[in-house]
Amino acid sequence: MKEQNISLPPQVERIIQNLNEGGFEAYAVGGCVRDTLLGRKPEDWDITTSARPEQVKALFRRTIDTGILHGTVTVMSDGTGYEVTTYRIDGVYEDGRHPKEVAFTSELLEDLKRRDFTVNAMAYSHKTGIVDAFGGAEDLKKRVIRCVGNPMERFGEDALRILRAIRFGAQLDFSIEENTYQAISRIAPNIAKVSKERIQAELTKLLKSRHPERIKEVYETGISRYISPAFAQIPWQNVSFPSGLPAEKFVRWGAFLRLSGPDMAVQVLKDLKLDNDTVSRVKVLAAWADKEIKPEAGEVRRAMSRMLPDVWDALAKLNGYDGEIGRLTGEIRERGDCLDLKHLAVNGQDLVSVGIRPGKEMGKLLAALLELVLAEPEKNRKEVLLAEASRYFPKQNLAGIREA
Ligand code: ATP
Ligand code: MG
Repeated sequence: MKEQNISLPPQVERIIQNLNEGGFEAYAVGGCVRDTLLGRKPEDWDITTSARPEQVKALFRRTIDTGILHGTVTVMSDGTGYEVTTYRIDGVYEDGRHPKEVAFTSELLEDLKRRDFTVNAMAYSHKTGIVDAFGGAEDLKKRVIRCVGNPMERFGEDALRILRAIRFGAQLDFSIEENTYQAISRIAPNIAKVSKERIQAELTKLLKSRHPERIKEVYETGISRYISPAFAQIPWQNVSFPSGLPAEKFVRWGAFLRLSGPDMAVQVLKDLKLDNDTVSRVKVLAAWADKEIKPEAGEVRRAMSRMLPDVWDALAKLNGYDGEIGRLTGEIRERGDCLDLKHLAVNGQDLVSVGIRPGKEMGKLLAALLELVLAEPEKNRKEVLLAEASRYFPKQNLAGIREA
């Protein structure tokens, strides 16, 4: 059945050869075979083998016990890890990333059968060529995502697969085969049982893909209602993505949720256990989603001072602040205009040295001085700002200020 040769990285060739010489079968499998056939560069190379984990470990000098219970050993080669997993039959998937129980098998075919989609269920070795028991190569040509076996059964075993179908559709720009699509809608309520971490990982990959707008299929298939109460409230008619958005997590989640408003956006992200950094960045994008900014340097500096530089760049892209605002942004950065307390020409120490006590009042004073400098950057000089400071405390005779 050897039809086609694909080129493997030399490390993968060596691992397969080593296993073969130890008397075991071994293949590159899953995403790496799919991506290679599509002419895409695989993220990583997974290997499937008839060898048991202890047997794999005995054959390689450097290994890591990644998921011994599930048959996975990471083999280190030239500083890169390759996951080598024993052929297995999966039990029922529970909340975690892995099925609750697995049974090892000596049959490659059994291992391929447990995989989710035909395009993900192909194996390859130089000895055998492509092993494609479920029409994966044909589905690659047709550009469709189709379940291995009966879609209702396969989605019933692990409901995360319904999101994976949409995610692969978006990444590969494939459509979802009719029966598979219908089963997604029917199984949708089961997504409520899947862990939020697994859901988040799939949605993040979908949003970072070349077709983030396909997140709408999560709504169209009826899945969105079962992800979380906040997710169910998202106003989908508002969701849109400008082209050319960087494939960064906060930018893509921000593009998706910005018109839901900051409160709903934050709730959606917290429910899905996104990290605090992403949550706070998206919150800013949502809070500013409906703000118009005059193309005027002071106003642009004020807006820039309210957020991190890369959040400002994302906001500018999402809100369409181009033309004059873009030009002003460049100028402000070029000149190095002060945009935060760190770059203000006076600090707390300076204020203490002229007799202002640290505390809330001083905080307010520093904030007011920053506002002043945002409006008039030429005032960012110590003597000017100390003179200004004295105007906030007219009754006190602050040391050194009046003379300044
Ligand atoms: P990528 O790494 O680009 O996201 P991938 O195809 O490698 O794509 P992984 O999530 O890394 O996807 O999974 C590796 C392989 O394991 C898949 O190609 C598929 O064969 C199988 N697989 C992963 N998750 C599941 C699942 N929930 N159900 C069935 N098979 C799965
Ligand atoms: Mg992978």
